[in-house]
Amino acid sequence: MTVETNAPTPASATSLGGDTTIRPMVAGNWKMNGLKAALTEAKAVHDHMASTDESVVCDVMLCPPSTLLMVMAEVAGGKISYGGQDCHVSESGAHTGDISSEMLKDAGATAVIVGHSERRADHAETDSIVKAKATAAYRSGLTAIICIGETIGQRQAGLTLEVVARQLAGSLPAEATPQNTIIAYEPVWAIGTGITPTADDVRAVHAEIRTRLSTLMGEEGALVRILYGGSVKPSNAQELMAVPNVNGALVGGASLKAKDFTGIIDVYSPR
Ligand code: PEP
Repeated sequence: MTVETNAPTPASATSLGGDTTIRPMVAGNWKMNGLKAALTEAKAVHDHMASTDESVVCDVMLCPPSTLLMVMAEVAGGKISYGGQDCHVSESGAHTGDISSEMLKDAGATAVIVGHSERRADHAETDSIVKAKATAAYRSGLTAIICIGETIGQRQAGLTLEVVARQLAGSLPAEATPQNTIIAYEPVWAIGTGITPTADDVRAVHAEIRTRLSTLMGEEGALVRILYGGSVKPSNAQELMAVPNVNGALVGGASLKAKDFTGIIDVYSPR
């Protein structure tokens, strides 16, 4: 059977996250980092993947800046898939500086991150804008990686589950399926800080997201990948990825260096 690299498929070789029905994904978000010289890091990830045997039980994606996307897809290709970091809701037009999902697809992407907390904060993106961007991703056949997560103030006020449920309901298009959608839970206060929630905290939030997905999508909600993101490193990946309903990671800083990124991937590649 041919399996698309970004589609959830059986992953019976892993029991990480206690789930044997969803193939996990480790995705790297390079943010606004990376000049041409950084292509060597992508190549090193590719070489690492090429040298692993079929026991690898996760999909691997890199989301570089748009300037590197096309060349990276050509240079590193193979066992890695590629994603954009944002897209405009329109297909084309007078939107200086923006990029459409069609352009990302044309450059070699199979997915696009939407609603990252940095875009929600820096560009005032609301849930309804994020939903429109996810719909734009579907239009061109891209998987939408929809990011949700609470701020430190919301967590301290005991609002985490409420905030995450609201963001999910507001950002998830009615057309969402396990094939075209990935959810990334990224507590804002954990992004780039080196601080992570406890495994119990992650377990509670991912369980809530799973329940809400089932309410919103019916049976298909059980098959949607839910990634954890926020200061994932090789040293904490094993513990975080073992939490039930954690179906992989969205990795920022640690995805910039192949050694760190592959150290996280290797959690799913017992060799
Ligand atoms: C991110 O920005 O998506 C992220 C998870 O960043 P970091 O891993 O650096 O916390």
